[in-house]
Amino acid sequence: MSRVYNFSAGPAVLPEEVLKEAQADLLDYKGCGMSVMEMSHRSKMFDEIIKEAEADLRKLMNIPDNYKVLFLQGGGSQQFAMVPMNLMKNKKADYIITGQWAKKAYQEAQIYGDAQAVASSADKTFSYIPNCADLPIREDADYVYICENNTIYGTKFAKLPNTKGKVLVADQSSMFLSEPVDVTKYGLIFAGVQKNVGPAGMVVAIVREDLITEDTLPGTPTMLKYKTHADADSLYNTPNCWCIYICGLVFKYLLKNGGLEGAKARNEEKAAVLYNYLDNSKLFKGTVEKGSRSLMNVPFIVNPDVVTDPEEKAALEAKFVKESKAAGLENLKGHRTVGGMRASIYNAMPKAGVEALVEFMKKFEAENLK
Ligand SMILES: *Cc1c(COP(=O)(O)O)cnc(C)c1O
Repeated sequence: MSRVYNFSAGPAVLPEEVLKEAQADLLDYKGCGMSVMEMSHRSKMFDEIIKEAEADLRKLMNIPDNYKVLFLQGGGSQQFAMVPMNLMKNKKADYIITGQWAKKAYQEAQIYGDAQAVASSADKTFSYIPNCADLPIREDADYVYICENNTIYGTKFAKLPNTKGKVLVADQSSMFLSEPVDVTKYGLIFAGVQKNVGPAGMVVAIVREDLITEDTLPGTPTMLKYKTHADADSLYNTPNCWCIYICGLVFKYLLKNGGLEGAKARNEEKAAVLYNYLDNSKLFKGTVEKGSRSLMNVPFIVNPDVVTDPEEKAALEAKFVKESKAAGLENLKGHRTVGGMRASIYNAMPKAGVEALVEFMKKFEAENLK
């Protein structure tokens, strides 16, 4: 067996220790003679798994009692509809457009009501987070929506927007559990877990209780009401049992390793290795403004001021992706809208992986810089 350094944006790298634990329990989960994939979601065994996962997540994030924790399916994308269906009482919501995921959420909300873009960084290919200190938030807006870490563009809100008293809704998919957050500042946080936490197929929603009501938009399906899942402790129907189990193992792993403060310290240290190199490299450059940089997703390109011929630049980037793969560094190709490369360095990417990437980049630069 040999494992690569996997820089995929998602589904993405998981802690090896957690994978080994799941492997050890695969055929016979704690003496019950079956795998977690095979047990009833109504069984006592599974009840303990889901309750412990919720309790551990509450501990990790310091989630106050007046917030519900929901384990839902449909991914991050389904939340783009669930949020307006459940929260748009006045049918008005204000969106901050910092990339493709925010834009998709904004477009989805337009199906249900009057969604307005109050800020955008589209003018510079989403390479920065706009100043959100004094936005034209509407008096009767039901909520203000952000995508807090932008997976594709590699930006992150260094400071939360001034919502002028309105409820803040945040898509934290690609930064979930990467650092401490103050849950009380949000009305609703959701995160598809396949980026930084677990396998694909589940989204965690953390919702303030007063926002969970029967008063949803007419026609809202039962399955798309937060109340349905909140009332049933995420067991209204069969949940993604396997994913809840693996996420539970990851929560325990994080608790054991210094909680979210520990995760943040490791993530800052790791990201610094890559950003420091990018800031000093001649051949490569990061695409994001310094004050808006993500700790999780790092897009970079061959510097067009150094390799001025666009075709030569593209060829060099393709060569980089190919050669890095051969060197055991996987999934470094950038998103098609940004081009170049992207290294996603989530919680479970070891520092040694980032160091190996930088060593490879140094060698590539020495060989290819004319
Ligand atoms: C990946 C991603 C999504 C979409 O998640 P799905 O689970 O594929 O629907 C939404 N928001 C962000 C920030 C993402 O990175």
